[in-house]
Amino acid sequence: MNSRTHYDVAIIGAGMSGLAAGIRLAHFGKRVCIFERHNTVGGLNSFYSIGGRKFDVGLHAMTNFVRPGVKGTPLGKLLRQLRIDRDEFALCEQKQSRIAFGARGETSLRFTNDFAVLESEVATRFPAQVDGFRRLAAAVRAHDDVALDAQPVSARQVVRQHLTDPLLEDMLFCPVMYYGSATEHDMDFGQFTIMFKALFFEGFARPFDGVRVILRVLLDKYRAAGGERRMKAGVRHIVAQAGRATALILDQGEEITADHVISSIGAPETARLVQSGHHPATAIAPGRLSFVETITILDRQPAELGWGSDTIVFFNDSARFDYACPKDQVDPRSGVICIPNNFDFGAGRHLPEGIFRCTCLANYERWAHLPEGAYRADKQRWYQSLQRSAQRFLPKLADPAALAHATVTTDMFTPRTITKFTGHLGGAIYGAAQKNRQGRTELANLYLCGTDQGFLGIVGAMLSGISMANYHILQKS
Ligand SMILES: Cc1cc2nc3c(=O)[nH]c(=O)nc-3n(C[C@H](O)[C@H](O)[C@H](O)COP(=O)(O)OP(=O)(O)OC[C@H]3O[C@@H](n4cnc5c(N)ncnc54)[C@H](O)[C@@H]3O)c2cc1C
Repeated sequence: MNSRTHYDVAIIGAGMSGLAAGIRLAHFGKRVCIFERHNTVGGLNSFYSIGGRKFDVGLHAMTNFVRPGVKGTPLGKLLRQLRIDRDEFALCEQKQSRIAFGARGETSLRFTNDFAVLESEVATRFPAQVDGFRRLAAAVRAHDDVALDAQPVSARQVVRQHLTDPLLEDMLFCPVMYYGSATEHDMDFGQFTIMFKALFFEGFARPFDGVRVILRVLLDKYRAAGGERRMKAGVRHIVAQAGRATALILDQGEEITADHVISSIGAPETARLVQSGHHPATAIAPGRLSFVETITILDRQPAELGWGSDTIVFFNDSARFDYACPKDQVDPRSGVICIPNNFDFGAGRHLPEGIFRCTCLANYERWAHLPEGAYRADKQRWYQSLQRSAQRFLPKLADPAALAHATVTTDMFTPRTITKFTGHLGGAIYGAAQKNRQGRTELANLYLCGTDQGFLGIVGAMLSGISMANYHILQKS
């Protein structure tokens, strides 16, 4: 039981960014407490159990993977700053991933954790573009993507200075946008470079037991450093007086005070918590991009269906890649397939069951207000549609009914699920379109970290927590 109600720092939300900020601050002797509305940690990147079976939410792959000894990378920085030994995450590398475009994925670019593979695929499929691709890669490498005062620049415009083939342009944007764009059609070049490096220069990996391992390590570090955590303790209001956050009111009515408050729940979500006559001068619009995901558990390894090679497949069947909030409930034309069995777990080591996941863009408004019966029926209908769409981009099954025969159980989440379990308005996984790199708010001692500060994904979220704790609190104390 926590008896103190005043902290040096109160953190709202126990997702990846809140946990990382907490560890950093606790290491430096700050009295810090994380307040989380739910009874599990991890937020957008967590897990749940149904019938004794654990499902990961979020984690397809941890991006930014580099092998030991590679210096100056986000993963290295994060491990150092959180004092985590890289063996604790026990990361296993992807086998290979693909970008597959065309009605049946006729144009395909393979990539692995070795950038040379993608470069040679581009040289083979787009020989006239490879010099431009190399120039683009050099521009990405040279870009300072962590500057907190960078001004937004259109990534499409920059990429078109180097590439003239719209198919290759779209093929590169597809994974980069699916794994980290809060904006439709185009994105900021700084964000593009972060994701390009995270996906193509670095790469994908995951622990054998999934996101639980990462969360367990973070929680152990936090606890060992003396950090406190209150679960089922949502923050209902932030009381503002004279331009400062003076108290947090919890869902149960309890009042907490803190010298500093870090919020990881999103910019518009945080603005809504601020009360007491102080209204933010500028309203921040919630993001428009949300997703559905199907999860299919199989009674055999995907390799037995002929699907043993691909870890992640980014697909699109249309003339142009249309990354936008769909008019319909879901847009199954493009998406991401993840087969978690296809990481290299070591000889003879397999996940106990086959897993096949498919993620597509979805429209929050078209899901949010459905009566329960219609909601369930629509989920069922779209589940079938996503399965059909995704299978076009994987090797053809010898028996078309094989997937159905191998299926043990299924689940599906929608934008409504995301809002229910993480509080993100509009089911917006990547948050608001406009990012706030410095994490400042209208209140002098209230800062943002996580998705709306602008570093996305698991590694990005943790780095965001670290950098906001360093920048606003540790460097000033
Ligand atoms: C389907 C899906 C697939 C993804 N795939 C990948 C992937 O393969 N690789 C990758 O790197 N990233 C992936 N991501 C993205 C990654 O999960 C997120 O970028 C990252 O986890 C965001 O962390 P965060 O700490 O910023 O925010 P969040 O995880 O949203 O944390 C915020 C926390 O605040 C809590 N909260 C909200 N309101 C309140 C309140 N009022 N009081 C108290 N607590 C509150 C929430 O419950 C939540 O725990 C994926 C996400 C999803 C959903």
